[in-house]
Amino acid sequence: MTAASSARQILTSLHEVMASRTHAQAKLNQVVETIGEALDSEVCSIYLLREGMLELFATRGLNQAAVHVTRLGVGEGLTGTIAQNIETLNLAEAATHPEFQYRPETGEESFHSFAGVPIVRRERSIGVLTVQHAEPRKYEEVEIEALQTTAMVLAELINNAGLVDAEELDRLPEAHSGQVIIDGLKLVKGLAIGKAVFHQPRVTIEQTVAEDTEAERERVYLAFDRMREQIDNMASQAEFGVDGEHEQVLETYKMFAYDEGWSRRINEAIDSGLTAEAAIERVQQRTRQRMREIQDPLLQDRMHDLEDLANRLIRIVSGQLGTAAQKGLAADSILVAKNLGPAELLEYDKRRLKGVVLEQGSLTAHVVIVARAMGIPVIGRCSNIRGLVREGDEMLVDGDAGKVTVRPSSGVLNAFEARFARSKEKKASYAKLRDVEPFTRDGERIQVMMNAGLRDDVAMLAMTGADGIGLYRTEFQFLVSAALPQRERQARLYRDVLDAAKGKPVIFRTVDIGGDKSLPYISSDNAKEDENPAMGWRALRLALEREGLMKAQARALLEGASGRELNVMFPMVSEPWEFDAAKEVFEQQLAFLRSRKHKLPTAINYGVMLEVPSLAETLDLLLPKLSFISIGTNDLTQFLFAADRANPMLAERYDWVSPAILRFLRRVVQNCVGYPVDLGVCGEMGGRRLEALALLGIGIRRLSITPAGVGPIKELVRKVDTREIGQAMREWLANPPPDMRAALQAWAQEREIEVE
Ligand code: PEP
Ligand code: MG
Repeated sequence: MTAASSARQILTSLHEVMASRTHAQAKLNQVVETIGEALDSEVCSIYLLREGMLELFATRGLNQAAVHVTRLGVGEGLTGTIAQNIETLNLAEAATHPEFQYRPETGEESFHSFAGVPIVRRERSIGVLTVQHAEPRKYEEVEIEALQTTAMVLAELINNAGLVDAEELDRLPEAHSGQVIIDGLKLVKGLAIGKAVFHQPRVTIEQTVAEDTEAERERVYLAFDRMREQIDNMASQAEFGVDGEHEQVLETYKMFAYDEGWSRRINEAIDSGLTAEAAIERVQQRTRQRMREIQDPLLQDRMHDLEDLANRLIRIVSGQLGTAAQKGLAADSILVAKNLGPAELLEYDKRRLKGVVLEQGSLTAHVVIVARAMGIPVIGRCSNIRGLVREGDEMLVDGDAGKVTVRPSSGVLNAFEARFARSKEKKASYAKLRDVEPFTRDGERIQVMMNAGLRDDVAMLAMTGADGIGLYRTEFQFLVSAALPQRERQARLYRDVLDAAKGKPVIFRTVDIGGDKSLPYISSDNAKEDENPAMGWRALRLALEREGLMKAQARALLEGASGRELNVMFPMVSEPWEFDAAKEVFEQQLAFLRSRKHKLPTAINYGVMLEVPSLAETLDLLLPKLSFISIGTNDLTQFLFAADRANPMLAERYDWVSPAILRFLRRVVQNCVGYPVDLGVCGEMGGRRLEALALLGIGIRRLSITPAGVGPIKELVRKVDTREIGQAMREWLANPPPDMRAALQAWAQEREIEVE
């Protein structure tokens, strides 16, 4: 039996049931019989939400006396768990599940296997459909799929019969009044005030069972054509026209839009008897579930793109078109959505769109990358935000703290407005420093550079007046691509970055992928088994083994920088030979390009990241070969303290301003004396004022930091006398005070230097 034929068989019977003139209870009774028979299950039951409880509404196989008597709370027992998590359960032995609860009145003790699916309306469980079997066996996938399809149809039947009233659905954990504060995930920093706008007026699927399968197929074909046309058009629009990350996003879209597998699955769902809308939704539900099982963050991000497209397709097919973007924003707005595709975000009027709040969202999602480029604060993982907010509600978005306030009280609103005004003033004062060169009080010129990784980041160079890009993380292009970026594409990005930098230096770091930044298209059995990904097969270790990858990047960098100076830096160099090997790859590519009479870079400067402590011990061997060293304190400190930088339990345990770190770094500074090598720091540490002060004190004269830090650090630099802080540091590092941070704070306070 195929999924389509079993579902079809059930749907045909259900269609008759729904069309019959009997009352709702009789229909449900017929439904449980039909399904039980089709799946050869002794038991089939339907539980529906009534007064906040799941009530047994109909059953075949359990005691009829239990109907309308057995009631379970949402989250209670297996049925309640299914409703709460909106998730399918399929168990060979029900009693082994930790949530199992036995209800004697049902007489279910003789049944072992259990499967249940949620009945969903407007993304909430309104009931649960279960089957039970005497033999302990797991239900097969086709059977589960048939159940899920049935549950969709049941949702329609239940709705039409008014079995679960709308109020039940609207009964939310919070009333629609009063202030609510929600904690979420900080995705893009910044503050915003505006009125709540729902990205998507909900598309409710009104009919699930098809009258005419061929007509439904035709509707889907037309919708696919239209969607593909829209995607192709987007490519020619201005926003997407400037190639870059957006172009890559678009490629992922195209990949899905033209994906044969996707359209085939929708077609199969139509074969089973569903309408076009229901078929698309059905396939989407299934994909969502698979993704939940796989739990791969990168794939989940791609999943959001697919959701975006599926929503588009349903809207087209149902004629329920129009997102809030198409209607236009009337006032300063905070966009509220479950998730958002990057293309959808770009459809909004940037002058009115002030902030975005998502129920899902993750740092590497395309939409977040685009929002960052647009300068719009984003908060993610605000569960049930769409349940708590009404269209038009006042909202405060605090992307710095990851907080959303809905319907703020007047006190909270005033305080937020004051903070907002101060942050605008502060930003304006930093903007004034844009063209001011960062000289210290004693006349030392400090290099304040910025870190970047996306094409749009480069615009910040001009806005902040940074001295250049001290760290260009080339792996970002790889992370936002659905497939390995081709050499030409890499070269184009590098050329564009250099163009945009207008002669300011850019240091390109070769890819730091692998380990936790793994890519679906670069896999190794080894990487999957890495128990300590930060110390694993990553960065240069991976690149030197994946020679093709390294060669392509080397060529791309050489081509991208033709006619200009190229600065290349290798990540995670642990021993000098790794630098030699990496440089050799570049030299070979250079020789090749030379032999082909290509225009070459005017000069190539090689450097390394110092982020593995072992390298500090062999610097003397390497220094004569280098033009620059950049200390990656993010990785370096995790290795020095043996404290995983991604572990939140350790996030605050060790201080960057500690004798261990500062002595280590000072030794590196001293070891570099006498060599014509530029030394700088490019970890997050350098972007924080107190830490930057300490770094100036041990002799660091170049910092590469997050763009938002450039203004504040320039301001700091101009207040510092390096001789003074140098002297203080020498004393503290010889005889460390009990609290180094406090000592530095006091020192700064005496001189009225703001360090927080
Ligand atoms: C570092 O390790 O300090 C660094 C700048 O590189 P990344 O954060 O990309 O590892
Ligand atoms: Mg690093």
